[in-house]
Amino acid sequence: MSSVKNFPQQETGDVAAAKARIVIGINNTLTNDPCALCGARTDPDGIDLMLADSLSLVCDDCGMTYVRPLAMLLRLRNAARTFTSSDMGEDVF
Ligand SMILES: [Zn+2]
Repeated sequence: MSSVKNFPQQETGDVAAAKARIVIGINNTLTNDPCALCGARTDPDGIDLMLADSLSLVCDDCGMTYVRPLAMLLRLRNAARTFTSSDMGEDVF
């Protein structure tokens, strides 16, 4: 039995290539377009995972599957921002 996730857009055949192009980028329009890899809902936060060439958003689940260190870095950033906001009463990030 395979543990590989079954992505609905896998028929394009470029998911493996796409994961090599996932980067952390600035989502300055705060769009919540569907994930470029699986079509799931994204949760834009201003600094998000996206495909480098198209700046299409990548969801957290795909991030954890394909680029776990980058996804974990974003989670750390969000946790630090939440902590700092609640501790200092302002958003410093
Ligand atoms: Zn996804």
